[in-house]
Amino acid sequence: MSSQSLIELNRLEKSFLTEKVETRALHQLSLSVDPGEYVCITGPSGCGKSTLLSILGLLDTPTGGQYILNGQDVSSLSRDQRAKIRNKEIGFVFQSFNLISELTVEENVCLPLTYRKGMAQKDIKERAKAMLDKVEMSHRLSHFPSQLSGGQQQRVAIARSLINDPVVILADEPTGNLDSKNADIVLRLLRQLHEEGSTIVMVTHDPRSIEQKSRQIEMLDGQVVADEYQRLAQVGS
Ligand code: ADP
Repeated sequence: MSSQSLIELNRLEKSFLTEKVETRALHQLSLSVDPGEYVCITGPSGCGKSTLLSILGLLDTPTGGQYILNGQDVSSLSRDQRAKIRNKEIGFVFQSFNLISELTVEENVCLPLTYRKGMAQKDIKERAKAMLDKVEMSHRLSHFPSQLSGGQQQRVAIARSLINDPVVILADEPTGNLDSKNADIVLRLLRQLHEEGSTIVMVTHDPRSIEQKSRQIEMLDGQVVADEYQRLAQVGS
């Protein structure tokens, strides 16, 4: 079972119907991601990157095809079932950080675990501190997001994404709101997490954000049109 893909998409389809107009955002998209991979998905605006990430993150469901996450078919689960799996298996890093402004750094990072039954508050706080140590932000436990720079907020968001020990981290333009210095810090952090074994799937249209050693997937019109890693693997084999 160890050779099993972490993510497997088989001929995925996603269409949106708005005012009788149907937009096909994803079409016959097949893709598999193994544990420990760092995948960068690129492509022009409107090619379906965000739609794909929403489906991978169980925020939305496909209109056709199959999605298998960690061995489980999650293509057509109820909203509640998806939320449960999402909370356990997936860490999110968004362009706009998505921290809750009324909560402190520590409370923001603890949040995903507060829904988990049977974990003592003390253990949750200890784990939050450990995750904040990882991103070098544990000296700001009691600060509020507005008191931090954009780069610091994104580091806190990364700590929050890690607290559940997710099987995959999904990052949507994680450097999109950062200057180049902070973008570099965040990218270095993601690379470090990858080197420590995390699986990362990142969507970006910014060529500077593409991790050179990663698997690079290019999308166009809802489909995968290039998969650099597979090409390299074939050349090497
Ligand atoms: P990208 O992230 O690559 O810019 P998106 O996934 O946002 O692309 O969009 C892909 C296509 O699906 C676009 O044509 C977009 O207009 C359409 N689309 C995305 N979300 C919706 C929605 N909620 N309702 C209708 N159309 C949508």
